[in-house]
Amino acid sequence: MATAVINPATAQAVAEIPRTSREETDAAIENAHRAFEQWRRVAPADRSRLLRRFAEAVDADREELARLEVLNSGHTVGNARWEAGNVRDVLNYYSAAPERLFGRQVPVPGGVDITFKEPLGVVGVIVPWNFPMPIAGWGFAPALAAGNTVVLKPAELTPLTALRLAELALVAGLPEHVFTVLPGQGSMVGDRFVTHPYVRKIVFTGSTEVGKQVMAGCAEQVKRVTLELGGKSANIVFADADVEQAAATAPMSVFDNAGQDCCARSRILVERSVYDRFLQLLEQAVRAVRVEDPALESSQMGPLISAQHRQRVASYVTEGTAVAFRGSCPQGPGYWYPPTVLAPIDAGDRAFREEIFGPVVAVAPFDDEAGAIRAANDTEYGLSGSIWTRDVGRALRVARAVDSGNLSVNSHSSVRYWTPFGGFKQSGLGRELGPDAPDAFTDVKNVFIATEG
Ligand code: NAD
Repeated sequence: MATAVINPATAQAVAEIPRTSREETDAAIENAHRAFEQWRRVAPADRSRLLRRFAEAVDADREELARLEVLNSGHTVGNARWEAGNVRDVLNYYSAAPERLFGRQVPVPGGVDITFKEPLGVVGVIVPWNFPMPIAGWGFAPALAAGNTVVLKPAELTPLTALRLAELALVAGLPEHVFTVLPGQGSMVGDRFVTHPYVRKIVFTGSTEVGKQVMAGCAEQVKRVTLELGGKSANIVFADADVEQAAATAPMSVFDNAGQDCCARSRILVERSVYDRFLQLLEQAVRAVRVEDPALESSQMGPLISAQHRQRVASYVTEGTAVAFRGSCPQGPGYWYPPTVLAPIDAGDRAFREEIFGPVVAVAPFDDEAGAIRAANDTEYGLSGSIWTRDVGRALRVARAVDSGNLSVNSHSSVRYWTPFGGFKQSGLGRELGPDAPDAFTDVKNVFIATEG
């Protein structure tokens, strides 16, 4: 069986990728299990060197990786280049880890006590379609650095860049079966990662619904699991903020990647006294967003990933929905959807509560700081968010009070590879990236050595 890979900007098929069968998945996991015994013994400096070479190979191939992502995922070429560069940077960052995976010496009576951070074995990385390259890298780079081997399943819709990365790993000199990419179905390949006893950890990024199934499956074998799931993040704008800047930057904090971003600030909460002015400024900014062929250098937003997904996004904007204003998008083939701003909106409306994962944002007013915090936290998600204010005390108070893993003040930054990333509540479990990520791919072993008879 094969899956047709579709260019979402044209709706044309661009490749046919065979689906990995259950037998092939088992064989790949067994190979990765055997390769683990060698890989964990590669001297730390040599493992570091191989990861740096992998980063160099990615860097040299950046234009090709970007071209594939534009073709397969409809990402703007500017974003796609950044994404390939992010894989390179994350590999470089974690290439320092093998030589720094320190244990501890713990004071005890009667001897010496030391701890080791032991790699787990085969790690299964399951990737969604919205950011195929970075999300893969955040899993495989620290996992490999900590001495594990990796099997990775890209999303059915977006396998091309992951397959290219696997080729580049071999070009860079990583031994065979240390990093294997297995395109195929979630219910087949992904599920086998969860059930196969040689896979010792799952890194899952995707929907909260599938994440819960994966977590339940992992429980059967007490398998380690990291979950990066959905979001419905708030962008809180106080009246004392630089309202012009807040309005100018709000569109791309939700419409970037056509809103297919778990960190999208898809609820904008604005203090009532500046609400009307903010909406006016936002309208100008939204109408200026360039939604066009993602291969063009000027493109700021491309299409949605599939016809089915566009239908789902459109289901949130029905006849009864109040659309304040919209941007434009190309007509004709491709899964285009215009940037859309909903207001006024009821707090109970499903467009205000559910993750839409498209270029649709809702704007609602609030009256005071407590009201803003209450509204921001009125969700089962807790991934990201922004706070716009010139009052540093308020910025810190609100940042501490919002139940979310990644907040930014007067900016919309979410994912920086130097800092930990992950969700509160139903947005996830565990953290990726940052200095501690390799630890999440190890188990601590404690060894006591008696020094007295
Ligand atoms: P999805 O849950 O449908 O699929 C994610 C991956 O899981 C795919 O590779 C899929 O094939 C696989 N899968 C499906 N069923 C499976 C099963 N039973 N067992 C194992 N694997 C299975 O999600 P999606 O539609 O590809 O991605 C969109 C979702 O991802 C959104 O909800 C978004 O918020 C979330 N996301 C979260 C983050 C984060 O870091 N928190 C980042 C990106 C995307």
